[in-house]
Amino acid sequence: MNRRQFLETVAAAAVLPGAVRQGAAANEWGSPVFDLHFHLRQQTASNLAHLDGAGVTKANLLTRGPVAEQVQALQSAAPGRFIWFNSYDVTKPDAEQVLTQAVKAGAQGFGEMKFHVAADGPELRRIYALAADLRVPILIHFQEVDHFPNEGTWATGYAKTFASILKAYPKTTFIGHADAFWANVSADYRNEAAYPVGPIVRGGVTDTWLGEYSNLFADIAANSGNNALSRDPAFTSDFVQRHQSKLIFGSDCGCNDGHGGGTSQGNNPAAARMVGKCVARETLTLLKRTATPEVFQKIVWGNAHKLLRIPA
Ligand SMILES: [Zn+2]
Ligand SMILES: [Zn+2]
Repeated sequence: MNRRQFLETVAAAAVLPGAVRQGAAANEWGSPVFDLHFHLRQQTASNLAHLDGAGVTKANLLTRGPVAEQVQALQSAAPGRFIWFNSYDVTKPDAEQVLTQAVKAGAQGFGEMKFHVAADGPELRRIYALAADLRVPILIHFQEVDHFPNEGTWATGYAKTFASILKAYPKTTFIGHADAFWANVSADYRNEAAYPVGPIVRGGVTDTWLGEYSNLFADIAANSGNNALSRDPAFTSDFVQRHQSKLIFGSDCGCNDGHGGGTSQGNNPAAARMVGKCVARETLTLLKRTATPEVFQKIVWGNAHKLLRIPA
């Protein structure tokens, strides 16, 4: 028996329970749920524990480095429940080569791209161009305020420069994520806090650009996405309605059981509001009370399938 046959045998043994749980999970939220932002965990069971616990049907594994075999094993163990994106250090000269190889091996996007470079710098620009060539989306972490001392910033300059990128790469599908992307739904944001609170000043660049650029989408994952949609309910219902075809549910949750066990946001002190909570559950609950059932289903299921051109 070769390694592939072995993996298939292991997978076959594991199929049934996963399939049964998937049926139950689809009902809890009144719609099947796709988690666009789920970081690959080492053990098959840990991945499934979060999906099943949070009532998530299917997830996009965010991975880094050579993981094709690990992903295949997980896909075999739980058929139809996982797709994957791949990421690689964009400062390395072979980044384009490695990411192209990942797409050939089945990756359906680039991400999450989280690097200490400028959002409009040469390192990321060549990956924006590659994403267009390969017709895959690119998911970017934008952050201008440290969570921990000396953490550094990620894909910097978003609010000042990213419109020029959206214009320069019209064939690239961008998915925005993280602190700076979400803080900039408010027009008064000046990088003073990771997760600003209080009423939103209308006309923030993220809101504006989602309306103006057909190649920009929004990943609602993490405390950043949840915070932006929690701080001003009147804003949220209007925002969700206007951008209902651009918003994609994701969790970025680190909890171990889909119910808030363990650590949900990496002990980030600024995200303490999520301690003991599952970010997936918190954001699904928020969306459910904000959106109509039709819009809810688009955001948690339909939009991602359309964007990724995969069957729902
Ligand atoms: Zn991130
Ligand atoms: Zn969770």
